[in-house]
Amino acid sequence: MKFVADTMLGKLARWLRILGYDTIYDASFTFQKLVEMGNLSDFVFLTRRKFLPSGNEFSNAFYIPVEKFDDQLRFVVETFKLDIHKNLFTRCLRCNIEVQVVEKSKLKGKIPKQSFEGFDIFSECPNCHNVYWNGAHFTNTMKKLNRIFNN
Ligand SMILES: [Zn+2]
Repeated sequence: MKFVADTMLGKLARWLRILGYDTIYDASFTFQKLVEMGNLSDFVFLTRRKFLPSGNEFSNAFYIPVEKFDDQLRFVVETFKLDIHKNLFTRCLRCNIEVQVVEKSKLKGKIPKQSFEGFDIFSECPNCHNVYWNGAHFTNTMKKLNRIFNN
């Protein structure tokens, strides 16, 4: 399942990427660009707009009827039967492409010493070279997911 998120859905887009889903998002997209991207095959265009500007046809637009972020994420996950565990943390949050596992020895001196010493599994974005590991951010994300999906 792949998504294009409307410009007002930045937080939702970020979280879909955290869950590992291909999600095109750019706050600077014009509406024309959104139409173009939203009509790519296999993509669902997620929007909060009840009425799309006339003359713009989306082949697969999906209206999100809830305002709060937690509800939006829950709504999309339940509607599209997304797996919130399977591909968690497999995608670069900036570039929206899959990260690759990187050998720890290659990161010496490139990331904070404490993180280098405290963790063994690291992944890197092949585009922006941002390095990811299961640190505090990971723990906080898991807590938040548990809060959203377990009550
Ligand atoms: Zn990246």
